[in-house]
Amino acid sequence: MSWKTLDDMDLDGKIVLTRVDINVPVHDGKVSDDTRIQRIVPTIRDILSKGGKPVLVAHFGRPKGKVVPEMSLEVTRPALEAALGKSVGFAREDFKQAVDAMASGDVLLLENIRFFPGEEKNDPALAQDLADLADVYCNDAFSAAHRAHASTEGVAHLLPSCAGRSMEAELRALDAALGDPARPVVAVVGGAKVSTKLDLLSHLIEKVDMLVIGGGMANTFLAADGLDVAKSLCEHDLAGTAREIMAKAGTTGCEIILPSDVVVAEEFAAGADHTTVAATAVPSGTMILDAGADTVARITDAFEKARTLIWNGPLGAFEIPPFDHATVAAAQAAARLTEAGKLVSVAGGGDTVSALNQAHVAEQFTYISTAGGAFLEWMEGKTLPGVAALHAS
Ligand code: ADP
Ligand code: MG
Repeated sequence: MSWKTLDDMDLDGKIVLTRVDINVPVHDGKVSDDTRIQRIVPTIRDILSKGGKPVLVAHFGRPKGKVVPEMSLEVTRPALEAALGKSVGFAREDFKQAVDAMASGDVLLLENIRFFPGEEKNDPALAQDLADLADVYCNDAFSAAHRAHASTEGVAHLLPSCAGRSMEAELRALDAALGDPARPVVAVVGGAKVSTKLDLLSHLIEKVDMLVIGGGMANTFLAADGLDVAKSLCEHDLAGTAREIMAKAGTTGCEIILPSDVVVAEEFAAGADHTTVAATAVPSGTMILDAGADTVARITDAFEKARTLIWNGPLGAFEIPPFDHATVAAAQAAARLTEAGKLVSVAGGGDTVSALNQAHVAEQFTYISTAGGAFLEWMEGKTLPGVAALHAS
């Protein structure tokens, strides 16, 4: 890995422009979940302890290049101060003046960078203005790294640059899972639809040794195999694509694991009457809402053979009990193997994170990414501009 970390940089007396993700949920004028703020604390503390002056640059909402007062980052300031245990300055307009006024030990937060039309256009002039504020650039916002914006990409080319602590942790975890993983590698791809995960499936069958396809998207594969999935969520128009993916897996030597038994119900509702049937015998008028015990045993077997697991997407409609069983059972098996030192387990995706929290395995997994879009693009094998720019600098 050719990017630098805070350990490689001389920060004494330097202004460190630090890209963070504090796009946090706010209710009634208060931050309601400060997870993202907690994640950047080690980076800010380390910059301070090396004698640097952190200047935080971030976006908040989608103001689309205009000043939208309700989207001011000032709302995050009390939560930032609480997390850091110290006061944080706020620069609404004249960034240069505010930076010049900083004393050693100060932390400064800049106003929402998306108030500037140049941010999302990656305007070189805005990138230069940002670079002119500082001596060093530190990117700690992996979740914004899939966008080539002035504060995530452009400025990285103009200053000595490094990854912050949470970016570093994310990149190391991702590299351990797909960059240079211990083999065999098993991937789990679940969730609702094949159509949203085509790039993901195509990339993974070239990279991994075993691919578990679960959730609603498995129905499309079962149907493509000629099975009757009755009322289940299914993209019948993608049968050809599903067959292509299975054929390609045959040539790359990737073993595909599809549900052999499924939990069916007549309605998509919590506690709906349900029964487990073979995937070849789905009764008419029912829909598949989860994988069965047999399938979970086959998935657990795959986890036991593997040394690395990469997971995106639940195995069933986990929001409505009891259709969370397969997801929870498989997650707990992965957690056990990880705790025993037999498996490196990395997972990510909006609903996946909720499902794994529901299974109480978040602590045991090697790494759970909350980065959303950036995590998925990385899992699809795409180059993330914000990360690439760190490599180049
Ligand atoms: P992520 O956000 O982790 O990338 P997705 O958004 O792709 O995951 O998928 C999550 C959704 O898939 C959940 O809302 C879940 O209810 C749904 N889902 C999973 N299995 C089924 C199924 N068999 N039928 C209908 N919906 C399903
Ligand atoms: Mg989702």
